[in-house]
Amino acid sequence: MKKPPTNPKEIDPKARIAGFDEVVLCYTEKEALAEAARCLQCKNPTCIAGCPVGIDIKKFIAQISAKDYKNAYLTIKEKNNFPSICGRVCPAEYQCRKTCIFTKKDLPFASKDAINIHFLERFAGDYGMKHVEHQSTRAPERQINGIRVAVVGSGPAGLSCAGELARAGIKVVIFESLHKPGGVLRYGIPPFRLSPETLDFEIAYLGKLGVEIKTNTIIGRTKLLNELFKEGFHAVFLGLGAGTPSFMGIPGENFCNIYSANEFLTRVNFMGAYKFPEAHTPVNIGKDVITIGGGNTAMDAARVALRLQKINNIDTNVKVFYRRTENEMPARRLEIEHAKEEGVNFEFLVQPIKFEGDENGNVRSIECLRCRLGEPDSSGRRRPVTIEGSEFKSKCDIAIIATGLLANQVLTGVTPLLKTDKWGNVEVNPVTMETSIKNVYAGGDIVGGEGTVIEAMGMAKKAAAAIIERLERKLS
Ligand code: FAD
Ligand code: SF4
Repeated sequence: MKKPPTNPKEIDPKARIAGFDEVVLCYTEKEALAEAARCLQCKNPTCIAGCPVGIDIKKFIAQISAKDYKNAYLTIKEKNNFPSICGRVCPAEYQCRKTCIFTKKDLPFASKDAINIHFLERFAGDYGMKHVEHQSTRAPERQINGIRVAVVGSGPAGLSCAGELARAGIKVVIFESLHKPGGVLRYGIPPFRLSPETLDFEIAYLGKLGVEIKTNTIIGRTKLLNELFKEGFHAVFLGLGAGTPSFMGIPGENFCNIYSANEFLTRVNFMGAYKFPEAHTPVNIGKDVITIGGGNTAMDAARVALRLQKINNIDTNVKVFYRRTENEMPARRLEIEHAKEEGVNFEFLVQPIKFEGDENGNVRSIECLRCRLGEPDSSGRRRPVTIEGSEFKSKCDIAIIATGLLANQVLTGVTPLLKTDKWGNVEVNPVTMETSIKNVYAGGDIVGGEGTVIEAMGMAKKAAAAIIERLERKLS
């Protein structure tokens, strides 16, 4: 008989909403061994095709089964620079777990009994953080003489590109506009999903490889792209992300207390708004919070808002409004489950049409139309179709809009030679990730795609390989 999956322990929902500690705990050794033992070690492992960076999943699971945790870690590291991060945030149910042999055909996401590849990756990654890297990381012996590459942006794309280049002996300087590195991993994904200590560790690892990080530097403002070449950098990688929020364009969207999810999360995760007045950046906390959207950003914003209410002794009341059904939600399934367990309520098939406010300009309610699902759109998901005459209103004193993010134009807007598409994303050669400017490469959310951490890292690795190849050719 098939063994049921082993899931890691989680903090009880009532306890966890009182703070920002990580919700999911790492597997114990016993749990990891039990889960690894369920893997069939398939002759043709279908899981690997589902991993955007092609980790040898079968091999690292076999190494865990053999208690060879160090090599399990190193197997993952061959393809993925940050196993502890990806083990926590990868949407595995749409990737490797979905293509695992245990997932039944034609499901939109992995079956429950697909191997918990991501939790095993985290187990190996956390083992590596504690037992491998501290002993073995050192700057590469070889330095390619005088060669320097600038990386703009320190999200997963920039960090990953920097790591690959540094390991090849190239001197890398990362320029980051914010005062701390990490990109969305720092300011978007809340600490209860990815602890800052994990991120700090992975970034410190780059420091040991000799990567320098210059924060508070906006390329396109503090200095221009061509100035980097004048300063002697031989190539530049752009990992600018997509940090510009998109709004719905409906009446009343400018009322006070309507936040973009990015601003709301940045204020809380990055600026410590939940510690106000100890921290200097506050955020308003309402009694009736409505988050609009169905992705990871919407789930994070809703769960953060719920915690703020709890911490401030306000009865928790957070709703998510989404215009399709739960099946079409792009968020990780685990985050949806966690949000529900914590007390977030969901209204599906609703389309906001306007906000109403009071005489002080504060939002007071949201008006919506109900929807039904129509034919699939370009994303393959069934399109929401509004139902005439189905208007309804909901009380709302904080609204958080998480309906999408767009490319940031700070650099592209002042660099006319850098070709962008109609959405403002940087155009690249898909094989080398080189842009329309020679020796300028790009990857991650700034070039579009699925918008996941692992995909951003995969693109960055491709760019790094192309940069290394060109620089080595130049030197030979
Ligand atoms: P980013 O992470 O956005 O980093 C870009 C960096 O570049 C930023 O630090 C920015 O400050 C800096 N920058 C921008 N312009 C300049 C400039 N001109 N000069 C200097 N620095 C600059 N994906 C998952 O796989 N799993 C998840 O669970 C998940 N959850 C998410 C939750 C939220 C709230 C959000 C917003 C996204 C989430 N994603 C998730 C998506 C994922 O985080 C992104 O796809 C990924 O971070 C993209 O990486 P990146 O390096 O391209 O960009
Ligand atoms: Fe097979 Fe799934 Fe194990 Fe991959 S993870 S080897 S597909 S059982």
